[in-house]
Amino acid sequence: MIIKENISLKEFNTFGLEVKAKYAAQVFNNRELKEILSSTKFKNIPKLILGGGSNILLTNDYDGIVIKISIGGIKIIKEDKDIVFIEAGAGVTWNALVTYCVEKNFGGIENLSLIPGTVGAAPIQNIGAYGQELKDTLFSLKGFYIDSIIEETFQNNECKFGYRDSIFKNELKGKFVITSIVLKLNKNPNLNISYGSVKNEIDKLNLKKITVREVSNVISEIRRNKLPDPAVIGNAGSFFKNPEVLEQKFLEIKNNYPDVIAYKQENGNYKIAAGWIIEKCGWKGKRVGNTGTHEKQSLVLVNYGGADGKEILSLAKEINRSVKEKFDIELTEEVNIY
Ligand code: FAD
Ligand code: NAP
Repeated sequence: MIIKENISLKEFNTFGLEVKAKYAAQVFNNRELKEILSSTKFKNIPKLILGGGSNILLTNDYDGIVIKISIGGIKIIKEDKDIVFIEAGAGVTWNALVTYCVEKNFGGIENLSLIPGTVGAAPIQNIGAYGQELKDTLFSLKGFYIDSIIEETFQNNECKFGYRDSIFKNELKGKFVITSIVLKLNKNPNLNISYGSVKNEIDKLNLKKITVREVSNVISEIRRNKLPDPAVIGNAGSFFKNPEVLEQKFLEIKNNYPDVIAYKQENGNYKIAAGWIIEKCGWKGKRVGNTGTHEKQSLVLVNYGGADGKEILSLAKEINRSVKEKFDIELTEEVNIY
């Protein structure tokens, strides 16, 4: 295995930030991963587990070892006439797994089409889009504790999944590395086209029967048209989570801003679109130095080129300050900041 020193991470984070790692390694299987974790040279230095780098903001050079997970493999491990269990390596590109399942008409992750990044990172924030979340289909996952190198399997209910959240973003942040996941998918899926934009596009197709393939195609097209491609302009998707507020707070906002975009949750609270809030604070498409918010979605912070992580973080803080002032709401970052 090749371990590089003083390597630029610009190609390894979708913000395109130029920072250096003291050491960097790419691991293709569990043996190589265990070798790095147990080596005396690296045992006691900081470790950053990296997938596709599409949900991180690097604000400093990394004085430790970056371990890029490239463990591959997709296979069916069990199936009957209704259900199929699929195992995938943590280094598989998430959308490659979606494509594999869509082509076989296995339903459950089609709404998560075209989300960047790797399979191993998907449970970290319980990726979600257009009404589907990873937690709806994740059966179990495997990995190692970084310090003890003990292998452990987590069942779905042990992952403490929440909205863009899991045990791996909290108690186990930086302590556990995921090496594979198992999904439980449906061969006769109930399709979810509840999001307005998805339903509109599906309706336009005027089909007798909708399959996972159409849902995946429609969602991929919506995403291509709306979201900035990191290959063209640096970004890490939504920078903040959508805040959830009590009904009373929602009604106050609605009274002042009848156009508020909000959705009632099962617990009676309201999820307000953070993009709408940021837009109301005057940030939509605004550029500050080399950074700014995306012209079509203010929730996405962008690097116009040459920005550093501190500049993006400072913009995020400024946005949050204005949101607090106008709405008395504190936004929480979704992106992992290092
Ligand atoms: P990285 O950025 O490499 O890592 C993210 C975090 O996970 C880091 O803390 C890292 O240490 C940790 N990590 C990575 N791999 C492992 C592992 N194997 N074991 C343990 N820890 C690990 N997210 C959504 O939820 N929904 C969306 O619709 C969505 N759309 C996006 C659109 C764009 C244009 C972009 C740029 C991002 C979007 N994201 C979205 C965010 C991002 O794609 C996801 O969070 C994705 O799962 C990150 O994967 P990654 O491999 O790039 O993770
Ligand atoms: P959008 O369709 O403009 O919707 C704005 C917000 O309203 C979304 O964040 C979504 O919440 C919520 N929403 C819309 N329709 C809803 C419905 N029928 N029921 C409940 N909530 C609804 O959002 P967008 O920016 O174009 O993104 C589309 C989808 O892709 C969203 O699900 C979004 O989360 C996901 N996405 C995520 C990232 C990321 O980095 N995390 C980046 C791009 C897109 P939810 O976010 O809870 O779905």
